Amino acid sequence: MTNSSILKSFREIMEIVQKSDLTINIMEVCGTHTMALFEHGIRSLLPQNINLISGPGCPVCVTGEEIMVEAFELLEKHKVTLFTFGDMLKVPGEGRALSILKAQGFSVKVAYSPRNAIEFAEKNPNIEVVFFGAGFETTAPALGATILEAYTKKLKNFSMFLAVKTVPPALEFLVEHNSLIDGFILPGHVSAVIGAKAFRFITENYQIPAAVTGFTAEELLLGISLVVKSILKKEPSYYNAYPHVVREQGNVEAQRIIEEVFEKGDANWRGIGTIPLSGLFIRERYSQYDARKKYGLREKPPIVPRGCKCGEIMLGRMLPPECPLFAKGCTPEKPVGACMVSSEGSCAAYYKYGRR
Ligand code: SF4
Repeated sequence: MTNSSILKSFREIMEIVQKSDLTINIMEVCGTHTMALFEHGIRSLLPQNINLISGPGCPVCVTGEEIMVEAFELLEKHKVTLFTFGDMLKVPGEGRALSILKAQGFSVKVAYSPRNAIEFAEKNPNIEVVFFGAGFETTAPALGATILEAYTKKLKNFSMFLAVKTVPPALEFLVEHNSLIDGFILPGHVSAVIGAKAFRFITENYQIPAAVTGFTAEELLLGISLVVKSILKKEPSYYNAYPHVVREQGNVEAQRIIEEVFEKGDANWRGIGTIPLSGLFIRERYSQYDARKKYGLREKPPIVPRGCKCGEIMLGRMLPPECPLFAKGCTPEKPVGACMVSSEGSCAAYYKYGRR
């Protein structure tokens, strides 16, 4: 389809919805989609009776405070040099954050890739280096490849502290617990790794229309149009609307690395709870690179900041402005929950762009 035919079709479909008495709730699962929808002004093109709801697809947002507290322990008790992605620095953990510890003199370094940590470890054999990473299937291949590199190089002063989650079990949990979602805009980047096939269960098992979608304005309009059309026709269909990037089987080499290095286990999603088999954990074979084992970190019970509604928001039961702390006690400068920290967090997106 050309861009003009996508726009024409989108307008026609939205006109039909506007004249109808339907209320349609569509969840965009991915945080990058949340930001792109705001940036392209797409929310303002939708009739009032279509609600776009942000889902649990922002890795920082679903990382529990207890994980941050464990990261603090690595610095304070074990005196490691901790590398992490920049957006982890402000994530709160019991009133503190890595940025605060860094200002206090602890060795916290921002990494652009896990390889930065490996290179530092090789140059500084007397320093214990830990890479702290949170992410989904998009990040897992690079994290796995880093562990394989450390294993091949027999590095002794390097390990990884990871909070890696997988999206399909979370969506299954979500459709089981939120019957209000009529359709899904599915994450293009995650699908590029695990394949369009990985989300087909949403339509096949739960009869909910869904479209794997890209990130340009036209790709988003196409994904929304396909899902809404399917809802209007009452014929739940599944679409790969990002076929030039996402294959049905995904990236087989990336999947091989994930399978080699990680095994599945139950994982806690901030504010949501434990979702069975939704986490990726370092396999026994590579356990010398697992900072949890290397430093004997004890798993901590989930910590949820008082009043924070991140879990309700990521389950699509609430919009960010409905949280009593939104823009009052909780702002990007002084976040209470992780949904306000990450640039892809739904609270941060609503704070920056407003309701539509
Ligand atoms: Fe949590 Fe802040 Fe979002 Fe409320 S506005 S849900 S406190 S992150």
